[in-house]
Amino acid sequence: MEIKNVGVLGCGLMGSGIAQVAARAGYPTVVREVSQDLLDKGLKRIEGFLKKGVEKGKVTREEMAKAQGNIKGTLKLEDLAGSDIVIEAIVEDLDIKNEVLQTIDGICPQKTIFATNTSSLTVTAMARATRRPERVIGLHFFNPVPLMKLVEVVRTILTDENAFQAAFRFVKSLGKEPIAAKDNSGFIVNLLLVPYLLDAIRALEHGVASVEDIDKGMQLGCGYPMGPLTLLDFVGLDTTCRIANIMFEEYRETRYAPPPLLRKMVLAGYYGRKSGKGFYDYSGENPVPSDFLVLGR
Ligand code: NAD
Repeated sequence: MEIKNVGVLGCGLMGSGIAQVAARAGYPTVVREVSQDLLDKGLKRIEGFLKKGVEKGKVTREEMAKAQGNIKGTLKLEDLAGSDIVIEAIVEDLDIKNEVLQTIDGICPQKTIFATNTSSLTVTAMARATRRPERVIGLHFFNPVPLMKLVEVVRTILTDENAFQAAFRFVKSLGKEPIAAKDNSGFIVNLLLVPYLLDAIRALEHGVASVEDIDKGMQLGCGYPMGPLTLLDFVGLDTTCRIANIMFEEYRETRYAPPPLLRKMVLAGYYGRKSGKGFYDYSGENPVPSDFLVLGR
C-alpha cells in the first residue's frame, strides 16, 4: 500500500496547510473547495506561507515553485479519483463530512485510504458511512500545519493494520512526528486541551482577570508559547464551539460544555483571527483585547 498521490478536501485553515506540506514533500496534491472564491483564498494562504519561508531563508525560490507546481486546486470531487489517500479537512459536522465521504467513496478506487482531520468526531462514524470502513483512519494535524510537527494517527476497531501503517509512514514522509491514538473523541491532545481552553473562557466570564492577564499568566507561569485566549483565536471560535458540543455530547461531562460567552461570540460572528475579531481585535497593527470584553458588556 504505497501513497504516491494525495487528495485534500477543503482548503480552509487546515486543508491549505495539509496540501502545502504534502506538496512540499513532493506529492502531487489535488485540493478541493466548494467555491472558486474560497479556493483562491486557500491557495493564496499557501503562497503567503511559502513566501514568508523564502523571506526567512527557510525555503528556496525553487522549492517554493516546486511545491506550488505540485498543487492543483479544483472544485470537482472527480479530480480526486487518482488519489492514494484523501484527507478531509472540511467543517466539523458529521453529516456534512459523511455526505462528502459517501460521494468520493463512489469516485475513488477501493484501495484509496480516507483520512479525516476531525478534532472531536468519532472516526468510526465516518468509516461506517463508506464501503471501505477498514481503510478509514484519522490523521489529526495541528495548526499551523506547516509549523506544527505532531500528527495523531487514529485507528478504529475496524481499521486494517496495513492501511494504518501506510498512513503512519506517509506522515513521517511529510517530515512530521506521528503518534498512535485510539478512536476516542478528542484523541489525546484535544481530550486534555479542550477543557483547559474552556476553563480559560470561564475564568474570563467569572471576572477572574483580564484577557491579557489570563494569557500572560499561562504563558509566563507555565511556559506555554501563547496564552489560551490567543490560542482560541487561532483555532477559530466557531470550530472550538463545535468541538466542545461534540465532546460534551460524547462524554456528558460539564468540563466539555461550551461556556455561554463562547456561544454568544460565535452567534455574533466573532470567530477569532479568521473573522478579524475574537478575544482580541485584529483590525489594527497589533491585536488588542476586544472592546466588549474590556468594557465587560
Ligand atoms: P475552516 O472553516 O478554516 O475550513 C473548512 C473549509 O472546508 C472551508 O473553506 C469550507 O468551504 C470547506 N468545505 C466545506 N464543505 C466542503 C466540501 N464539501 N468540500 C470541500 N470543502 C468544503 O476550518 P478548519 O479550521 O480548517 O477545520 C477543518 C477541520 O480540521 C475540522 O474538522 C476541524 O475540527 C479540524 N481541525 C481544526 C484545527 C484548527 O486549529 N482550526 C486543528 C486540527 C483539526
